[in-house]
Amino acid sequence: MTRAFLFPGLTTRVIFGAGTLAQVPEELRRMGHRKALVLSTPHQEAEARALPLGDLSAGVFAGAAMHTPTDVTEKAVEAYTASGATCVVSLGGGSTTGLGKAIAVRTGADQLVIPTTYAGSEMTDILGETAGGEKTTRRDPAIRPEVVVYDVALTLTLPLSLTVTSALNALAHAMEALYAPDRNPVIEALCREALTAFKTALPRLTQNPADLDARAEALYAAWCCSTALGQVSMALHHKLAHVLGGSFGLPHAETHAVLLPHTTAFNAAAAPDLLRPLTETFGGAPGLWDFAQSLGAPLRLADIGMKAQDLDRAAEIAMRNAYWNPRPFDRSGIRNLLQAAFEGRRPNT
Ligand code: NAD
Repeated sequence: MTRAFLFPGLTTRVIFGAGTLAQVPEELRRMGHRKALVLSTPHQEAEARALPLGDLSAGVFAGAAMHTPTDVTEKAVEAYTASGATCVVSLGGGSTTGLGKAIAVRTGADQLVIPTTYAGSEMTDILGETAGGEKTTRRDPAIRPEVVVYDVALTLTLPLSLTVTSALNALAHAMEALYAPDRNPVIEALCREALTAFKTALPRLTQNPADLDARAEALYAAWCCSTALGQVSMALHHKLAHVLGGSFGLPHAETHAVLLPHTTAFNAAAAPDLLRPLTETFGGAPGLWDFAQSLGAPLRLADIGMKAQDLDRAAEIAMRNAYWNPRPFDRSGIRNLLQAAFEGRRPNT
């Protein structure tokens, strides 16, 4: 077929490097802001308070939590309104970025994000929120952050286990972007970059988590993956991760890490050409499983909180609401995939 694609363009301004935190005040002024509310998790409150904002600071709200609970957002919106800020600075992983997005979509606040994990929420127009134990996800241009400042130095404190699972979480965005129906050549190129950069950086980080060059490669790969996630549709892998996190409380990054070789093996059969970068870099889904194992990643859903008796119900929930996937699937196909991931079997295709 003749080549045809739509590239929607990139709107988020990105500053990448080591020591880039120093540029945050200048960026806020360039955006036209005089007061910014800084957001973080309780765990990263000290880093949030240490941001060199001077008189641009309107205070810190350090209550961000996993899966963006709406009761936390309500308190944060109150703090934002009372602070007199016109924008938020989200310093942290996907949980903190999620809180910033939730404030922005309710108040019109601008967002400057400083990511400290590889989860990849910062470049996307996606917001997942939890209320009454249910997680709902939406896409809206108002959710996409205006500015992202990547400072490699901040990732030096990322524990090795989260480094590995967060990177596999990011790789899952690239993997699904490679076969997304709305993919485009820019995104395909970024995905290839991400596979190669993670392949190089992660083994080095397992040897020395303080290797600044490897940290930079990993964060660069994460930016590529986040950009991909922000531009194209996701499929079965993200649906299953959403079900296991949202309905069974499994931890986000670990769940992505365990599922990835299995969802990739399942879809590789239907999209071998599109997944060629995976074959070339890792040797397909079995090679990806070997790579994850060599990094010490969790390999079994059983080890991260999934119960055998919940697998049927998980497959059932995953079958609700039709969505696109390169390989058609039914309940028993999903159930088999979940069983393989539950046991941590090495995929053989
Ligand atoms: P997280 O943000 O919950 O962070 C996990 C823990 O690690 C937190 O306590 C955090 O403070 C700490 N931490 C983060 N960076 C650190 C660092 N450099 N050093 C030391 N500690 C650090 O975890 P996550 O995996 O980044 O994000 C998961 C959340 O992000 C989920 O809720 C997920 O749904 C969401 N997410 C959303 C999107 C999107 O596009 N909407 C994309 C990816 C993830």
